[in-house]
Amino acid sequence: MAVTIKSSREIELMREAGRILSLVHDELGKIIKPGISTAEINDFGAQLIREHGCVASFLNYNGFPASLCISVNEEVVHGIPRRDRILREGDIVSLDAGLIYKGYHSDAARTYGVGRISDEAAKLIEVTKQSFFEGIKMARAGNHLYDISRAIDAYVSSFGYGIVRDLVGHGIGTKMHEDPQIPNFAQKKRGLRLQPGMTLAIEPMINMGYAEVEWLEDDWTVVSEDGSLSAHYENTIVITEGEPELLTR
Ligand code: MG
Repeated sequence: MAVTIKSSREIELMREAGRILSLVHDELGKIIKPGISTAEINDFGAQLIREHGCVASFLNYNGFPASLCISVNEEVVHGIPRRDRILREGDIVSLDAGLIYKGYHSDAARTYGVGRISDEAAKLIEVTKQSFFEGIKMARAGNHLYDISRAIDAYVSSFGYGIVRDLVGHGIGTKMHEDPQIPNFAQKKRGLRLQPGMTLAIEPMINMGYAEVEWLEDDWTVVSEDGSLSAHYENTIVITEGEPELLTR
């Protein structure tokens, strides 16, 4: 599948999809506290998405059973919300959500500390978030796609963290996952040339320890193989003639 260039009309719809998703994330961030279950967080997110007249894109995607992916501690991504998964003081939790507005997708993820967390955990969350911003400094027309990958890699590697390689960012538009794939680690090639109107979901997933991950028996939940904490940060952006525009923030 070719990489699509969105028209200004399409970008306007994705801007609204992104605006709504950023509101959803802001509301979700407020309810993160010790004692809440990941199913309660999911239910609230699903309700918010519905109230804005949107569709939760994760629900039933390849059979995924919930509206949000909620991944705790060593869980990297694609955690399935559960009533008996109760957040505790000191946990970290990654919320990944996507929605569809008038046929157009937005996708974004945030990692939060639950109550008081260790300095090490807070640093992992902050570095993961900042690595996204280091990456998108390169997200400009005329640069190449893997300039983004290299910038994320250089920043994260300076902290000695493991960059997850089995999962990557992606193009986004009328489908949640479009071409191109966007690795968060350096590539030998330069990748395609970035053009205005490309819409991308850039999403570093960073482990405090080694980069290797494995899948749990539910066939969804991805965990760090060494059991180390993992953080995730994602926004949907659009390439412009100048600075990239963040649609989900
Ligand atoms: Mg994504």
